[in-house]
Amino acid sequence: MKKFTKFENKVWLSTPTMHDGEELKYIKEAYDTNWMSTVGKNIDEVERIACEKIGCKYSVGLSSGTSALHLAVKLAGVKQGDMVFCSDMTFCATVNPIVYEGGIPVFIDTEYDTWNMDPVALEKAFELYPNVKVVVLVNLYGTPGKMDEIKAVCDKHGAILVEDAAESLGATYKGRQTGTFGEYSCISFNGNKIITGSCGGMFLTDSLEAADKVRKWSTQARENAPWYQHEEIGYNYRMSNVVAGVVRGQFPYLEEHIRSKKEIYNRYKEGFKDLPVKMNPYDEKNSEPNFWLSCMIINEGAMCSQVRGESRALYNKEKGKSCPTEILEKLAEYNAEGRPIWKPMHMQPIFRMNPFINRYGNARANTNAYINTDYIIKDNLPLDISNDIFERGLCLPSDNKMTEEQQNIVIEIVKSCFE
Ligand SMILES: *Cc1c(COP(=O)(O)O)cnc(C)c1O
Repeated sequence: MKKFTKFENKVWLSTPTMHDGEELKYIKEAYDTNWMSTVGKNIDEVERIACEKIGCKYSVGLSSGTSALHLAVKLAGVKQGDMVFCSDMTFCATVNPIVYEGGIPVFIDTEYDTWNMDPVALEKAFELYPNVKVVVLVNLYGTPGKMDEIKAVCDKHGAILVEDAAESLGATYKGRQTGTFGEYSCISFNGNKIITGSCGGMFLTDSLEAADKVRKWSTQARENAPWYQHEEIGYNYRMSNVVAGVVRGQFPYLEEHIRSKKEIYNRYKEGFKDLPVKMNPYDEKNSEPNFWLSCMIINEGAMCSQVRGESRALYNKEKGKSCPTEILEKLAEYNAEGRPIWKPMHMQPIFRMNPFINRYGNARANTNAYINTDYIIKDNLPLDISNDIFERGLCLPSDNKMTEEQQNIVIEIVKSCFE
């Protein structure tokens, strides 16, 4: 390998990209007009802009994507003891709100084409649990899932779809924006997302009744009365007018951010063309991701042996082969930040007793105990696709502010792992 020196400035996975003046201008406007509150023009504007951009009828600005998901799950009617089908390979915030409402997440295995919920496994899950009424689906890393197939399964079984579009703002499927496929959908403005407010999130829907309900719940569920009158439990989940100012200033740059993320993805793709790896896949005919994170997956034959415990990992160096652990350690050595694939929910200790459904049925068989199904192959596919992607995949530095020169070095570092 060519010798490089450590990056002087850390190359990050994904950090906020601010622009001269506009975010500050709207923050200052909030300050100058004294709307330092959860009411104000920035919130109204951001809600209007989001609806216009995404193509939904209503949006409600909230304090986070997680709070948006919580109210969506509550609105979908999840009650104590209800099973809810949800994406398995995702960030925990997709799933936790189900538990806030007393629901039981049932994890649905992943497919290889988009790294999202497998519609075949979802159909299987309805065979096993026909009474389930809510499905929570994520578009991971900014890549739309198999929306037509998933929607068809939900419709067939009369289930409500909640779409977690936290990572996929601006991505489209058959020309339609993600965040419009769920009866209730959510986006996030967390600091690492494609555009940010430093924090914040939004609930999206075409139902006026749903939007009104969420607006009410998010502001402590006050009834229409001269005093504080309460008939329901409320939350303090509304977006701040200061945060909304940042989001308002960022929205005009969404497409620019997507363009630069796409360039990053394509540069990796080109740079890795002689390596035994692939980039995170998408349906090139029907979808346009926002390319929030560039990820790669190592071909099976090019994996050196790697074992992961609950908090540490070890691997054996093998000539011509590598593994996520080696690549991530090597990147860190050079002051670049990668990350493992989001560890699937069915593999998390907290969810070890929850059902995990693959395309053949309950992968935890007749017991509800944790059974590790990795590397059991059937019909040429592993039984546990989430685990396989976790095992062989990783997220690459995908920061908008990474220079082409820095990225070329990242590419060389990855290549050197396969020497
Ligand atoms: C970031 C994220 C969330 C949560 O958003 P916050 O605004 O951080 O609460 C939910 N789901 C996924 C998939 C995310 O990546």
